[in-house]
Amino acid sequence: MKSSVELDKLLISINKKGYPAYKSLKGNYQFPGYILGIDHVQGDPFAAPSKLSIQVGKAQAGFPEEYYNTGYKKTALEDYLLRLFGKAVSKYTFQAEGSGKSGLISTSRCGQEVLGRTACRITDGSVLIRFEAGFPAYGRTINSPELRKIIFDYLPEIVKKSLYYKNLDVPGTRKRIELAEDQYVLREELGKRGLVAFVANGAVLPRESGVSQKPMKNAVVFQSPESMEVEIELPYKGKLRGMGIPKGITLVVGGGYHGKSTLLKALEQGIYQHIEGDGREYVVTADTAVKIRAEDGRAVSHVDISPFINNLPNGKDTTDFSTEDASGSTSQAANVAEAIQAGAGLLLIDEDTCATNFMVRDSLMQEVVSGEHEPITPFTLQARELYEKYGISVVLVAGSSGSYFYIADKVLQMDNYHTFDITDKVNEVTSKRTEEYQGKAPVPAGILFNGKERILKIKKADRKRGQIKIKQFGMDSFSIGKENVDLKYVEQIVDYEQVTTLSYCLKALIEQMEIKGTDAIQAVGRIYSQIQEHGMEALCPGSYLPVSMAQVRIQDIFACLDRYRGIL
Ligand code: ADP
Ligand code: MG
Repeated sequence: MKSSVELDKLLISINKKGYPAYKSLKGNYQFPGYILGIDHVQGDPFAAPSKLSIQVGKAQAGFPEEYYNTGYKKTALEDYLLRLFGKAVSKYTFQAEGSGKSGLISTSRCGQEVLGRTACRITDGSVLIRFEAGFPAYGRTINSPELRKIIFDYLPEIVKKSLYYKNLDVPGTRKRIELAEDQYVLREELGKRGLVAFVANGAVLPRESGVSQKPMKNAVVFQSPESMEVEIELPYKGKLRGMGIPKGITLVVGGGYHGKSTLLKALEQGIYQHIEGDGREYVVTADTAVKIRAEDGRAVSHVDISPFINNLPNGKDTTDFSTEDASGSTSQAANVAEAIQAGAGLLLIDEDTCATNFMVRDSLMQEVVSGEHEPITPFTLQARELYEKYGISVVLVAGSSGSYFYIADKVLQMDNYHTFDITDKVNEVTSKRTEEYQGKAPVPAGILFNGKERILKIKKADRKRGQIKIKQFGMDSFSIGKENVDLKYVEQIVDYEQVTTLSYCLKALIEQMEIKGTDAIQAVGRIYSQIQEHGMEALCPGSYLPVSMAQVRIQDIFACLDRYRGIL
C-alpha cells in the first residue's frame, strides 16, 4: 500500500493538469491511524462526486467489543458513527474551492430511524466509512492544493473527532448502545407475550409536520387504557408500561381529527428502531407488519384475488389476476394477497386510504344488490378467517361503518388524542344485533394459500452496452431498463437509500432470472439471503459501491417486484 506521503507527491505532480489526471489517484493510502481509499474518481468537476472511504483499524477505533458484538448493537453503533461523521463533514463541505462540485464532502443522511447502511460498516472492531468528495478544479483544470486541504487538513480532523472512541462523548455513545439493547429486548417481548405491537406510555406519536419526521412539540403524549396496559422490564430503562396490542383484530374508531391515523402511522413505522429523542423509541410493531391501502393504477401480475373478488364483468380470471391499471378495490385486494405471500403477520389498514367497497358492505346494500351482481367479498367478511386459520392479525382504523364492530377482538376509541378501550361496550351492543351482520363469506379466505403456486417470469430487460440501467427519482420511484417502478404508496419505505437498495435488488433479480430462468418469487428469497449473509454490498459486485444503500425487508423487495411492469 502507498503512503500518504506518496499521495501528497502525486497530488503536487498533477496540479494544473487536465481533470482526467485525477484518475491516477485511485488506490489505498496509509495515513497515521487509518487507510484512505480513493475508490472512484469523477470524470469532471460537474459529474457525480468521487467515492472515497476511510478504514480505521480496531486498535485506533478502540470501541469496546460489547458495543458491536450483536447485529443490533453493531447497527446502532454504525448509525451513531455515521451521524457523527456526517455532522463533522458538514462543517467542511465546500470549504475547498473551485468550479462545479469542487469541495463538496458528504455522506449518507440519516433520518429518525436507525438503519443498517453501506455508508458505515463495523467489522471485527474496525470501522469503514464511505463518503463522497468533489475533487477541486478551476474550470476543468486540476486544483490539487485545494484537494490537499480536504485530504490532509480536513479529513484527519473529521476522522479523529468522529471515529475514535476515546474522543467521543463516552456516556453519549454508551446511551445509544443501551437504547439498542432495550429496543431489542422490547421487540423480543412482543413475540413472547403474543402481542403484535407495543406503544409506551409517554410516547410522542404525531410528527412536526407533513414534511418533517421530527416529533411534534407540545403533543398529547400517549397513555394506554388501563385494560391494555402491560409492563415490560428492560435491561437499562427498567420497568416500562404501555399499551400491548394482542394478536387478533383490533379496531380503532373515533371522530375525525382525533388521532386515529397518527396512531396507525406510528404502528407502521414501529418496524424500525427510532433514535433517542424521537418520541417513538419504545413504539414497536411486529417486524412483518405491512400497511395495506388502495393503490389505483398500479400494475398487478398473476395474483390470486379470488377470496375478495370474483365474477368480474369482463369474465377475467381472479385466481390469476393481472392488469396494467388496477381499480381501487382490485389494487387493495392484490396488496392484501401479496402481503400475505410476503410473510406479513400483521396488516395495518386506515380507512382514509382504502377503497370503501373493498372493506365493507352494509346489510341494506347487500339486500338490494344481490350477491351475484357484486363481485366483491368485503375484507370485513374475510378478516376473521385470515386470523383464525392463518394467524394474520389486523389493526384497522375506521370511523364510518358499524359493520367493523362485528369482527373486532378489541375496539379502541381515540378521543382528543386519548385512547380508550371500548371493547366491552361494543360487545354489549353487538350481541343484541347479530342478525344485522351477514357474517359468511361466499369464498373462503383460505383459497389464498391453497390455490396454485404463484410463479412469476420476467421479460428480458432493456440493456445499454450490456448493462441494465437504473435511474432513481427521489423517494418515490426508479426506472430500470425501460420500466418505471412506482413505490410512492409503499408507505413503510422511509429513506431514499432504501429505494436505491430496492432498485439494485430488482436489477439483481432480473439478471438472475435471465440466467437461471426460474421463478422470481424464489429469486426474491435468494437475494434476501444473499443480503443477510454478505450485506447489501453483494448487490453491486465489483471493487467499489457506486451508490449508498440502506436496509430493507423481504416484504419491501416483494412490494418492488409486485409493482414491476416487466413481468410476463
Ligand atoms: P384522524 O385520523 O382521527 O382524523 P389524525 O391522526 O390525522 O386524526 O390527527 C389529526 C391531527 O391531529 C393531525 O394534524 C395530527 O398531527 C394531530 N395530532 C395527532 N395526534 C396528536 C397528539 N397526540 N397530540 C397533538 N396533536 C396530535
Ligand atoms: Mg385519519
